[in-house]
Amino acid sequence: MPIRATKRGAERTPLDRDCDVLICGASFAGLAVARELSGSGADVLLIDRYEIGERQTSACGIPTGWLTQLGLHSALQQTFGELVIHTPHTTVNYRLPWTFSTFDYRTLCGLLADQSRGAFTFETAKVNGRTGRTVHTDRGDIRATHIVDALGWRRVLGSAENIQPPDALLSRGLEVHPHGSGSEMEIWIDRSYVPAGYVWSFPAGEELRIGVGSFDPRFHVKEPTVRLATDLKADTVRYQGNWIPHALRPATEDGVFFVGDSAGHCLPLTAEGIRTALYFGLAAGRELSEVLAGRRGPDEALERYGAFSASHAAAYRWLLRVQRLVPRIAPRLLAGCLRTLQSRRFLDWSFGHYLEIAHPRSVVALSRATGAPAVSVP
Ligand SMILES: Cc1cc2nc3c(=O)[nH]c(=O)nc-3n(C[C@H](O)[C@H](O)[C@H](O)COP(=O)(O)OP(=O)(O)OC[C@H]3O[C@@H](n4cnc5c(N)ncnc54)[C@H](O)[C@@H]3O)c2cc1C
Repeated sequence: MPIRATKRGAERTPLDRDCDVLICGASFAGLAVARELSGSGADVLLIDRYEIGERQTSACGIPTGWLTQLGLHSALQQTFGELVIHTPHTTVNYRLPWTFSTFDYRTLCGLLADQSRGAFTFETAKVNGRTGRTVHTDRGDIRATHIVDALGWRRVLGSAENIQPPDALLSRGLEVHPHGSGSEMEIWIDRSYVPAGYVWSFPAGEELRIGVGSFDPRFHVKEPTVRLATDLKADTVRYQGNWIPHALRPATEDGVFFVGDSAGHCLPLTAEGIRTALYFGLAAGRELSEVLAGRRGPDEALERYGAFSASHAAAYRWLLRVQRLVPRIAPRLLAGCLRTLQSRRFLDWSFGHYLEIAHPRSVVALSRATGAPAVSVP
């Protein structure tokens, strides 16, 4: 059983207050926003239903450069220079032009929180909704001048009726975290596990993160996750799963900043949403810090952030097209394609472009550089 740090029942005292900035959601996106508000002098409140770092929300794999650029290297667990892709008809080893690493969720969240240098007060509360500038939680109402929704795919603070799965543009993912070790970052494109999607095994020190991602939200992933873990002779323990957005949504609405999965910032083909949550979180935090410093009006900041997010739409559309194409390719043909694409030139080009969507070097431009060293990116 996981140890629950979050206060429950009578220990949850009423929370009824005003603040300058209310950040809802204390995972990657919310913590990146909070980090940028250090030194603002504003009354910033960060809330989440769990304590910071308590509930891991992913396999925690990220291009290593993001850890380096944000000064988060001490959360790193394992680094990979190659991606191994298995299909029923072939196995290819793609040497990446940059490395990918797994990290410890709790450590990373703690480091991000520390980097904000006391910029925020944290409270555990479940967010239920919003009326104008008032956010309703299970502990009371919070009134805020500026509001950030970093609550994930549910987009709890949106004003429109929320489209629920399986009709929404969402993928679904589930993984187990057994004890074990490995040296390769592996994925399988294999219809016997998932008709449209892929399955993975990411080693992270003394743990493996083994899971199934389905681009079709109607396909249930529990049985294939258990089967995959069993096939890999791993225990089916410590489950973690969620819906994963695979389409961009407006990043601002009714005066609210939406960041990370709440704005559909997760990348459609790969379901990689950590670096984009950090990337757009820094961007939203930068705009908010300009507002708090009196250098920009709130409407202008919202407009700039919304336009920044929308400027990435073409890349998201491309990835979505490939996501839809791959399951339609006959398995033998797909194996042939994967082998052909092993050329150094193609890998540098394709993975280079993929990293460009949210490149670690952009930390320097986006961030007010609270403790972020400007170092070279591996
Ligand atoms: C199985 C799986 C594996 C994945 N692996 C990877 C990976 O290896 N690499 C990668 O880049 N991406 C991965 N992803 C995608 C990645 O997890 C998300 O894109 C990323 O977590 C988005 O960050 P976020 O901060 O926007 O949202 P989240 O990380 O989902 O954080 C949302 C926060 O809001 C809180 N919250 C939610 N609702 C409420 C509420 N009503 N009230 C209060 N608090 C609330 C949650 O507790 C949480 O802390 C994976 C996803 C899944 C499902």
